[in-house]
Amino acid sequence: MIFAANWKMHLGPAEVRRYAERFLAKLPPREARRLVFFPSPVSLEAAAHAMQARGDVMVGAQDVYWEPKGAFTGATSVPLAAAAGASCALVGHSERRHIFGETDADTRRKVTALLQGGLVPFLCVGEKLEQRDAGETEAVVLRQLRAACEALPVSELQKLVIAYEPVWAIGTGRNATPEDAALVHRSLRGALTTLGAPAVPILYGGSVNAANIASLMARPEIEGVLVGGASLDPDGWAEVVRAGTG
Ligand code: PEP
Repeated sequence: MIFAANWKMHLGPAEVRRYAERFLAKLPPREARRLVFFPSPVSLEAAAHAMQARGDVMVGAQDVYWEPKGAFTGATSVPLAAAAGASCALVGHSERRHIFGETDADTRRKVTALLQGGLVPFLCVGEKLEQRDAGETEAVVLRQLRAACEALPVSELQKLVIAYEPVWAIGTGRNATPEDAALVHRSLRGALTTLGAPAVPILYGGSVNAANIASLMARPEIEGVLVGGASLDPDGWAEVVRAGTG
């Protein structure tokens, strides 16, 4: 079970330190439960430091650039993210794809750079509402998946985590039903199996909260969640994680 929190453009270093103290005290480690936090780059080191005593917690970057160093103003390389304490990173989040223009080719370069640097890529895939309405959901998510990782050797592919996040469900209060999500997860599982990596975890993301997480996590296809809004408050996030742990 993976409970991943995407803090987006929120929570500075001091807020993250307060968050960690409160959240970790509320939620002791639990067998087979992994907690992941994706802070802003300015808070990465504070988060990694505040959570370092907890073996069940990973901290990661929300985005990385594929070049290891150089004149790329505003970008964070994999080595810089790792130096700040990241052990993983999001790739292809819908806000990166649709606000910042990240392409499938970009996601492939980022996944490769992360693996080379020893970080776990959390690859996000998901269709827009018009694509769902046009019956293109499966084609879109499988294209995004294959574009990012089909050229990888199986030994590398096995290190990924996938997050299915329908774009229309992110930050909208409208989540996919557990059945809709499970259907897409099965397609992704089929493709990963064909690629030789049947055990890659597949998370669901999109307006997950304390009220809907139990029904999502009750589906065997859903092995965890990636959560934005409902992860920003330590008490609220602890409640969501507890409700989803069962
Ligand atoms: C996200 O940012 O990945 C996300 C799923 O956001 P929210 O939970 O707010 O929909």
